[in-house]
Amino acid sequence: VIVLISSVAVLSEVYGDLLRAAGATERLMELLAARSPVAEPTSPRPLPPTERGSRVAFNGLRFHYPSRPQTAALADIDLEVKPGETVALVGPSGAGKSTVFQLLLRFYDAEAGSVRVDGVDVREASLQSLRERIGIVPQDSVIFSTSALENIRYGRPGATDDEVIAAAKAAFAHEFIMALPQGYQSFLGERGVRLSGGQRQRISIARAILKNPPLLLLDEATSALDAESERMVQAALEAAMAHRTTLVIAHRLATVQQADRIVVMESGRIVDQGTHAELIERGGLYARLAAMQFGLESPA
Ligand code: ADP
Ligand code: MG
Repeated sequence: VIVLISSVAVLSEVYGDLLRAAGATERLMELLAARSPVAEPTSPRPLPPTERGSRVAFNGLRFHYPSRPQTAALADIDLEVKPGETVALVGPSGAGKSTVFQLLLRFYDAEAGSVRVDGVDVREASLQSLRERIGIVPQDSVIFSTSALENIRYGRPGATDDEVIAAAKAAFAHEFIMALPQGYQSFLGERGVRLSGGQRQRISIARAILKNPPLLLLDEATSALDAESERMVQAALEAAMAHRTTLVIAHRLATVQQADRIVVMESGRIVDQGTHAELIERGGLYARLAAMQFGLESPA
């Protein structure tokens, strides 16, 4: 029995990574739900309707991965995100930023404390209703071996062609798709048209715009893009973040400068928060990270 439990735990960690990598598409969500170690509530509480975006609250959150019981991946996390707010998570690698996303999606349950979405503890919501409410743009966009149209439709499988095209336009993907040999019918993926990094990202952003979730989790890509791609990806991200609550693992200056609030994480804890200007002025970890990542001068 012990062997079984631990292999399920390991499996779920593998699937967590897989899911992150694949952009947490609906089909993978189902796959994970089928193997998930988290329990469905027997009588789930419905998530209330939202208007300007979801409200998110972490209270006294503490968590370690099942395979690493000695190390807290998150500790003493207290954070409230208001409807419509854009919060940037920054911090060195291993700080716990991606883990925050995993707990929001309830791939794992916290050891102590709670995660609430729109006032409902994620353990009391059905996994389906929770994951319907959340859209993800992962760091590495996955392109499936199918047409451009179907690639974007993964965001909301029931969407009409017109809705898919509207999302592509909003994500600044329409023009390059129209320039492909068969337009929206062009086959993408390994044996189809090879897209550039920036084009892949915009397909992934178009999926999120099509899904239109009240809560968007965005893990910004770190890979450098040429200036033209960079400008279009930034514009696409801005379109995706509008009219909803966004948590973004930020790697770019433009993103942190536009965030309503920056939350600085280190070793599983929130160590500071504020606007870009406030945090630079304070000259702490954020100022040092900004100096390294964005090439900004750190105050002496
Ligand atoms: P970040 O996204 O800020 O780089 P993570 O949330 O990925 O940080 O990781 C936080 C901590 O949890 C790190 O110490 C990392 O090594 C550990 N960790 C992340 N994912 C897993 C996993 N699937 N299994 C075990 N430990 C993990
Ligand atoms: Mg990460």
